[in-house]
Amino acid sequence: MTDNKPWDVVVVGAGPAGLTAALYLARYHRRVLVVHDGKSRALRIPLTHNAPGFPEGINGADFVRRMTDHATHFGAEIREAHITDIRRQEEGFALSVADAADLVARTVILATGIFLNQVDLPEDVHEQAIKDDVLRYCPICDAYEHTDAHIGVLGCDSNGAAEALFLRRYSDRITLMPLSHPELTASQKAQLDQAGIKVMTGALVELSPRNDRIDVVLEGSQTLGFDVVYPALGCSPRAELGTALGLAVTESGCLPSQCVTASPIAGLWAAGDVVEGLDQISIAMGHGALSATKAHNWLREQDGETLT
Ligand SMILES: Cc1cc2nc3c(=O)[nH]c(=O)nc-3n(C[C@H](O)[C@H](O)[C@H](O)COP(=O)(O)OP(=O)(O)OC[C@H]3O[C@@H](n4cnc5c(N)ncnc54)[C@H](O)[C@@H]3O)c2cc1C
Repeated sequence: MTDNKPWDVVVVGAGPAGLTAALYLARYHRRVLVVHDGKSRALRIPLTHNAPGFPEGINGADFVRRMTDHATHFGAEIREAHITDIRRQEEGFALSVADAADLVARTVILATGIFLNQVDLPEDVHEQAIKDDVLRYCPICDAYEHTDAHIGVLGCDSNGAAEALFLRRYSDRITLMPLSHPELTASQKAQLDQAGIKVMTGALVELSPRNDRIDVVLEGSQTLGFDVVYPALGCSPRAELGTALGLAVTESGCLPSQCVTASPIAGLWAAGDVVEGLDQISIAMGHGALSATKAHNWLREQDGETLT
C-alpha cells in the first residue's frame, strides 16, 4: 500500500536540520513532508546557551516546538512514524513506514541524527542527571557553564584524552578516568601530566548522580566526587537509511559531508549530525537550509524551470 501522490521532498528527521529544511522547502512552495520517530537529540537539551539569538538560553523541547510551528506555519506537514527502509524507484524513492502505508517522494533529505553512546544508568536517572547538570556529553555546548568546576572525564583513550585537554582551558581540576582500562600511549599520558590533568587507572564500578554533584566509584580507589562528569564514549550515527541506498559511511559511521550538497545518489541529500562534522544546532540548521535549496533547485532543473 502506498500514500499515492509523490511528495516533492520527504525529510526524515524533525530536529534542527530536518525542521530547517522543511521551513525552506515550504517557503519554496514545495509539497514537503517531515517524518520523525520522536528522538531528536535537541529534545533532551535542558538549556542551550549557544543557539544564536537566545543569550539567556533556550530549552531544547521549546526550541524544537518553535521550529516545528515555524515550518508548519508555512505549510510543511509533519508526521510521527519510524521509517524502516528506503529504496530507489523510477520516480524517486519509496520509503517504508512502520505500521503505515509506504511513502513516495521525488527527493529525500536524511536528517536522522546520531545516538549517543551513553553510560550505563537507568533511563530516568540518566535524564535527571543531564537536567541536574551533573552529567554532560558535549564540552563544546556546555563547558563554559563549568568554568572552574571540578570535572571528571570518562573514557581513558585518545577520545577521552582529547576531551580532557579541551576542558582544561575551562578548569584546572580535570580528572580522566577509564571505563574499563586505560588505553593511553606514553606520549598522551605525558601530555596530560604536563597539562595538570589527573589520570586514574581503576575501572569504573559505579556512577551515582545526585542533584548537585556526581560520585564516581573506581576499582581499587575511593569514591571521587565531581561537579560534572563528561563521558567521552563517541556516538552511533543513524545512517542506516543512507547505507540502505548504497552510500558509504566515514570511519566514524557518518554520511560523508558531500551529501549535504551533492550526494552520489541523484535526488538524495543529508543534513545535520548524521553528516560527518561538528554536531551542533547551528551546523544542523545550516545543512538544513543548504540541502533544501539543493533539492528545490534540482527539482526545478528536472522540471525545466531553470535557465538553459
Ligand atoms: C543533552 C544534550 C545537550 C546538547 N546541547 C547542545 C547545545 O547546547 N548546543 C548545540 O548546538 N547542540 C547541543 N546538542 C546537540 C544537538 O542536540 C544536535 O547537534 C542537534 O539536535 C542535531 O540536529 P539534527 O537535526 O541533525 O538531529 P536530531 O535533532 O537528533 O534529530 C534527528 C531526527 O531524526 C529522526 N529519525 C532518525 N532516524 C529515523 C527513522 N528511521 N525514522 C524516523 N525518524 C528518524 C529522529 O526522530 C529525530 O527527529 C546537545 C545534545 C544533547 C543530547
